[in-house]
Formats: sequence, C-alpha cells, structure tokens
Amino acid sequence: MACKKTNNNQDNEKSKLKKEYINNSKKYVANTYARFDLVLESGKNATLKDIEGKEYIDLGSGIGVNSIGYGNKNWINTVTNQIKTLQHTSNLYYNKPYIDLAKKLCSITKYDKVFFCNSGAEANEAAIKCARKYSFNKYAQNGEYKRNKIVTLKNSFHGRTMATISATGQEVFHNFFFPFLEGFSFAEANNYDDTIEKLQDNACAVMMELIQGEGGVIPLDKEYVLKVKEYCEKNDILFIVDEVQTGVGRTGKFLCSEHFGFKPDITTLAKGLGGGLPIGAMLMDKKCSDVFVPGDHASTFGANPVVVAGALEVLNSIDKDLLKEVSKKSKYIKSQLMKLDNVVSVDGIGLMLGIGLKEGLNAREIVEKCISKGAIPLTAKNKIRLLPPLTISDKELEKAVSILCECLG
Ligand SMILES: *Cc1c(COP(=O)(O)O)cnc(C)c1O
Repeated sequence: MACKKTNNNQDNEKSKLKKEYINNSKKYVANTYARFDLVLESGKNATLKDIEGKEYIDLGSGIGVNSIGYGNKNWINTVTNQIKTLQHTSNLYYNKPYIDLAKKLCSITKYDKVFFCNSGAEANEAAIKCARKYSFNKYAQNGEYKRNKIVTLKNSFHGRTMATISATGQEVFHNFFFPFLEGFSFAEANNYDDTIEKLQDNACAVMMELIQGEGGVIPLDKEYVLKVKEYCEKNDILFIVDEVQTGVGRTGKFLCSEHFGFKPDITTLAKGLGGGLPIGAMLMDKKCSDVFVPGDHASTFGANPVVVAGALEVLNSIDKDLLKEVSKKSKYIKSQLMKLDNVVSVDGIGLMLGIGLKEGLNAREIVEKCISKGAIPLTAKNKIRLLPPLTISDKELEKAVSILCECLG
C-alpha cells in the first residue's frame, strides 16, 4: 500500500512537471508549431520515452532525421571523440573529417563535388544559386540576364526561407510575406507538356522531389521524370532533385533517383544525413561542379567537424544489408495496412510511406490515437506518414504496425 502511494505521488509529480513544461513552452516559445502533448526525454533505436516513462515506437524519426535511430554506439563515440578533439573550425581552413565526408559522399553517389550547409532549405538555396550562376556564366551577354527561371512543381515543398518558399509550389505558402522572390514558375506534376511550356520561358533549371513528401507522399511517374530529364539535357537546363527527405537510404537506395534510373545534375540532401545533427549538402555533377568560386557562397557552420562526424557514421551504417532491410520492411508495412478497410492506399517507396484514408477520417485524430497507444506517426496533408528510423527492429515494427492497425481499423 505504501509503495503504491509513492508511485502515485511520483506519477502526479511527473504529470505536474509535464504541464509546467508545456505551459512554459506556450509562454516563451514562438507559436510556430501545432505541437502534440508529448514531452520526450530519451530514446533507444526506434523506441522513445517521455518524461513520465511511457514508451513509444517512433515512426517519424524527427521528420526523417534520426536515420540510424537513437543511441547508436558508434555514432555516439565518433561524435563525442570529435567534440573532445575539435568542435568547430572555419571553412577557411581544412580538416580531415570534412574531407573524408566529401570524398565518401562523392564515391557513394558518383557526384563530382559537394557544397555543405546546415539544412534542407540551405541545400536548396545553394542549388538555386548554383543553377542561376551556371546559366549566367554561359548565357548572360551584353549585360542581359534573363535565362534565370527555375521551374518547380505544384504541390512541392522545398523549405521555409524566402527563396525556398518562393520555390515551393503551394499557394498556402505564398501569403503574408510579400514580396516573394521572382523567377519561379510552377508546372503540374506528371504533365510533360505543361512542364516543357514553363521550361521554354527562360528556364535555367527544373527542381523537383521524386516523391513529394510534405505534399502527401506522392511519387512522380518515372516516364515523366525521364522525359523531362531528356529535354533538359538537350537544352542545357539543369535538373535539380530535392532529396532532402528521400535521400540517404530512406527509399531503400542511397538516392531515390536510383529507382528512377538517372543521375540529376544537382542533388540536395539534409534530413537523414547527420543522424540527428544538422547538416545539408548539395551534390554537383561535372557540368556545374566548378560554378562556385571563392566569395560566391559560404556557411559559417556548414559541415562543422562534429556534425561531419555524425554524418560519417551514418554513411558507415547505410550498407547494402540495411538498404535491403528497408525494402523488406516497406513491403511488410504495405501488406499489413492494405488489409484494412479504412486504408485506401499506401504510397511511397522504402520507409517513406503515406497512408491514404477513407473519406471522413482525420489524419491528426488518428495520430493522436496512435500516440495514446504508444506509436508516433506523422501526417502529410490528410495522410498518415511513416518515416521510421531505417534501423527499426522487426519487433519494434511489429508493435508499431499492430498499433496502427488498431487505430485505423
Ligand atoms: C524538409 C524538407 C526541406 C526543408 O528542410 P529544412 O532542413 O527544414 O530546411 C526541403 N525539401 C524537402 C523535400 C523536405 O522534405
């Protein structure tokens, strides 16, 4: 009896603390997120714990970030050793981990050179600048500079900076913050004629996600992508693929473009690359790898030695076996969820999946239900979105799928 009383007291204490944290967050933090009532404290592989000690299977990985889960021993060792050795140095000097990472990324992806930054939006900013300068160098004559448009797709998402929301092809993002950046036009995804029409109006590049993530986990048609690529090649228009969400093994290949069977001129990466530390990268093919010269672009923190250490461990972990597991687990999830009456579709590739719901169902409400039962999925539009750590174990996945089935059933 006494013991039980103590537990109850502790529980009450914890739940009081939780309320206090949430109230303080509401009081002191900008109101930019529709947060869930969850105060997370620790994690192990794909299992998270909140401050009350309750466990959850993580089906979001901090939005595709914790690619190799929580508490990976090699990752922790490499990162902490680096912190002890040299936590930061300017990009005006060289350091070994940075060069190792660049070399490794280029060798895995067969790209020529990489520019490092801190986030997905920054990687796309770099790509936009690189494409415009590429075109400027080749085509701006007599001070005339018109060939600078970048065509993106409707329903896309490329980030939250002024340039990348201007590039994002969704009306909801184009409010309040006027004036937006000029030089973007939006083509209908999978509509070749519309895309070509937009490209013919002074385009220097096209930029697309091969699976529209925030837009609802919608893969593009392969035939469409390859036809646009062919047109771009013929007309010296750069093809930029935003793999901020799809990259680094998320789809069961290192790059999603491998599924589509082509190599874009520029690929951007971020989310999963650092395993939880902020790093972005723009990979450039031969055609544009020497466009930037000193002074054109820079980042104070870009690929700081500590985040680089994290990224090196992520690249060490993402081997053939892990990629195979990603595809296997994807098939398992799809087969289990497609059995449910309330599920109309499961789209996506690998461990980037979007669950289409029967009309009338609300994705956010289903996520709330899942959280109360011990699994944390994401939403994308009115779909349930899954982006679990790539290392999620069979046991963790089975538990998560059974919770999903219960909440969706
Ligand atoms: C998340 C995301 C971004 C933005 O990344 P940040 O790191 O939040 O700036 C850009 N493009 C795509 C496809 C994304 O999913």
